[in-house]
Amino acid sequence: MEKINLLIVDDEEEYIDLMSEILEKEGYTIFTAHSGPEALEFLKTTEVDIILLDILMPTMLGYSVCEKIRKNYNTRPIQIILVSGLVDDMYLEKALEVGGDDFIHKPIVPLELQRRTKAAVIRLRSQLKLFTERESLKETVAKKDDQHQHLKKEFETIKKINIELSTSNKNLKIKVRYDMLSGLLNRMSLFNTIDIEIERAIRSGAPLTGIMLDIDHFKRVNDNFGHQVGDIVIQRIGEMLNNSLRKYDYAGRYGGEEFFMLLTNATLQQGYIIGERFRYSLEEHPINCTNKSIRVTISMGIAQYRLGESRDAWIGRADKALYKAKKMGRNRIVLE
Ligand SMILES: [Mg+2]
Repeated sequence: MEKINLLIVDDEEEYIDLMSEILEKEGYTIFTAHSGPEALEFLKTTEVDIILLDILMPTMLGYSVCEKIRKNYNTRPIQIILVSGLVDDMYLEKALEVGGDDFIHKPIVPLELQRRTKAAVIRLRSQLKLFTERESLKETVAKKDDQHQHLKKEFETIKKINIELSTSNKNLKIKVRYDMLSGLLNRMSLFNTIDIEIERAIRSGAPLTGIMLDIDHFKRVNDNFGHQVGDIVIQRIGEMLNNSLRKYDYAGRYGGEEFFMLLTNATLQQGYIIGERFRYSLEEHPINCTNKSIRVTISMGIAQYRLGESRDAWIGRADKALYKAKKMGRNRIVLE
């Protein structure tokens, strides 16, 4: 695919400028619109591949714009990424319901914007391929009315392609909930899950423990081996965290190289054992990155939830303990 036409729709000039500036460097052809109606008008004359669509706009909400685009242009793939400062799961669900492909939060994080847009290009390419195959098969089927045997086979293929399309849509939903690199919950889903588990702990009285993890000297990994290796390290740690969890625990990517383990029905001491086991296994198993293996260690701060405290206060205590672990020389777990 040659040039990607990208339309940014936002009622606020500063967001348009910011996103344009970030994405222009990536080589997209950028168009802008300041409202839903203006965007819909624009689409009548210009073929657009990716749309970054603000949800909160005074004349028409991004949701309705999204629905209209899906209705009017259902014969070709357009990737629509909804953009908003609304963080609740409800808004996310709604964004998917109206046909959005992905979701980006405000304030805009440049790296996230670049990555999610790039992911949209990848989806666009694979959908274009599927669309073309489906269209050409439809034509073939129409021509060969009499060759029943043949037809049957081709119908089967169409069926298969349709299933593939719907699976790829399901995968999109997963991508919105999970961090693309580590495969763990993304920050927003992590917070939602923590809130749910806090509620549950308050009702049941069961202990709830959280561990804040940070990769030691991660900057050195990036500086010495490059960002791609840094990405592999995050990926592998994501996988290892996922594998080491009990089935009712959660792990999420809190920030760049920071992770949070949410251990339900676990006391501080039980959490400590789980954390220590993970720390040890990482210390014992260097991470394989293409042609070299890298030894990576982590520091951890652990805190048990106290009835009545806020999510942020709790995470704050774990974070403080993590800070202590760093100060004490890293590669260790510190109880709050
Ligand atoms: Mg707005």
